[in-house]
Amino acid sequence: MKPDLFEAPDYYNLDDLLTEEHIMIRDAARAWVKRDVSPIIEKAAQDAKFPKSIIPGLASIGAFGPYIPEEYGGAGLDQISYGLIMQEIERGDSGVRSTASVQSSLVMYPIWKYGTEEQKQKFLPKLASGEFMGSFGLTEPDHGSNPSGMVTRFKDAGDHVILNGAKLWISNSPFCDVAVVWAKDENDRIHGLLVERGMEGFTTPETHNKWSLRASATGELIFQDVKIPKSNILPGRSGLGAPLSCLDSARFGIAWGAIGAAMDCYDTALRYSKERIQFGKPIAGFQLQQKKLAEMITEITKAQLLAWRLGVLREQGKATSAQISMAKRNNVEIAINIAREARQMLGGMGITGEYSIMRHSMNLESVITYEGTHDIHLLITGLDITGENAFS
Ligand SMILES: Cc1cc2nc3c(=O)[nH]c(=O)nc-3n(C[C@H](O)[C@H](O)[C@H](O)COP(=O)(O)OP(=O)(O)OC[C@H]3O[C@@H](n4cnc5c(N)ncnc54)[C@H](O)[C@@H]3O)c2cc1C
Repeated sequence: MKPDLFEAPDYYNLDDLLTEEHIMIRDAARAWVKRDVSPIIEKAAQDAKFPKSIIPGLASIGAFGPYIPEEYGGAGLDQISYGLIMQEIERGDSGVRSTASVQSSLVMYPIWKYGTEEQKQKFLPKLASGEFMGSFGLTEPDHGSNPSGMVTRFKDAGDHVILNGAKLWISNSPFCDVAVVWAKDENDRIHGLLVERGMEGFTTPETHNKWSLRASATGELIFQDVKIPKSNILPGRSGLGAPLSCLDSARFGIAWGAIGAAMDCYDTALRYSKERIQFGKPIAGFQLQQKKLAEMITEITKAQLLAWRLGVLREQGKATSAQISMAKRNNVEIAINIAREARQMLGGMGITGEYSIMRHSMNLESVITYEGTHDIHLLITGLDITGENAFS
C-alpha cells in the first residue's frame, strides 16, 4: 500500500467549532492511525484477520470508553471527542472503528449505565485498557431488523439462570472475553446478561467469507444450557429500550466514523487527480472529475456540520434517537457514494490494495447495514415526522 499522505479537508473551517482539547485528541488519534494502522491494515484486510497488535494503541488514544468516567478507567471525554476519535479510526478502516465502537458503546456503555458497582469495577477498567475485549449480542439468525422477536431465553434456576439460544453477526465475538447478551426471561422481558468466556456451553465460532469489514472479526455467540450467575445480569434497565439506548451511542459514533472514511476517499482521489496525466494534463483539470470532487467536498462538509451539531445536542442530553438515525443514515450514505465516485477517479488503480478506497467501499456495505439498516433508519425518520408506524 502507498504511504499514508492523508490531509483532512476542513472546507468550512469547522476546526473553529472545536476546543483546543478536541483538536489535541483528534490529532493524537490521527497520528496514531497514520503510524500504526495505515501500514498494516491492507494486509490485515486481505488476510481477513483483526490485527490484535493494535489493541494497546486503541486504548492509548482513548478509543475504549472515551466518555466513560476516569474512575472506571475511561477517558472521561465529551461526546464530540468521542466522535472525533471514531472519525479518525474509521479514516483508517471501518473494521477497526467497529471494534472500538462495540467495546465502547455496546459493551462498556451498558455496563456503566445499567450495571452494579461490582460489575463496573470488575469489567470496565479491563475493557478500557484492552486487557478484556467485549462483544454485543442482539441480532439472531431469524431476527435482525426486528430484535424484539428474539428467541434467546433464560430460565431461573435459583442462584443462577440457564441461557439457551444463538446470536449471529457479532463483531469481536471470536476473541471476546465478555459478551453483553440480550435475552428474554420467562415473562418475555428482555434483559442484558454478561456472558464470560470459559462458561460451559458458550462458544463463539467465527464467520468467514466476508467481502466487507475483513479486518474486523465477526462471529456467532452460541449458548447451550449456559449457567450464568444472577450477579451477571445487568439490573439497571430491562426491555428493548436498554439495547436500543446502546445502539444510539454506537450510531452516533458511526455518524462521525463514516465521515472519516469519506474524507480518506476524497483526499486520495484529489491527490491522484492532480498527479495522473491523461490527454496531456492532470485529470483534475477535466470538468467531469471536478464535478465529482466538488460534490464530495460539499457532502463531507454537510456531514461534518450534522455530526458536530448532533455532538452538541448529545452532550446536552437533548439528542433524540431519531436525530441520531438521520445522521447515521445520511453520513454513511454520503460516504458510500463518495467511495464509489473516488474509486472511479482512480481508474484501474482504484480497485487495487495500493489505495484504501476499494477497502473503504467494501467496508461501508456493512456500515450501511449494521446498527439499523439504511431502510430502517429512514422508517425511524418517517415515524418521527408523521407519527405513523410503517415498520409493520
Ligand atoms: C459485519 C457485521 C457486523 C455486525 N455486528 C453486530 C454486532 O456486533 N452485534 C449485533 O447484535 N449485530 C451485529 N450485526 C447485525 C446487524 O445489525 C444486522 O445485520 C442488521 O440489523 C440487519 O439485520 P439482518 O441482516 O437480519 O437483515 P434483515 O432484518 O433481514 O433485513 C433485510 C432487508 O429487509 C429490510 N427490512 C427489514 N424490515 C423492514 C421493514 N419493516 N420495512 C422495510 N424494509 C425492511 C432491511 O432494511 C434490509 O434491507 C452486524 C452485521 C454485520 C454485517
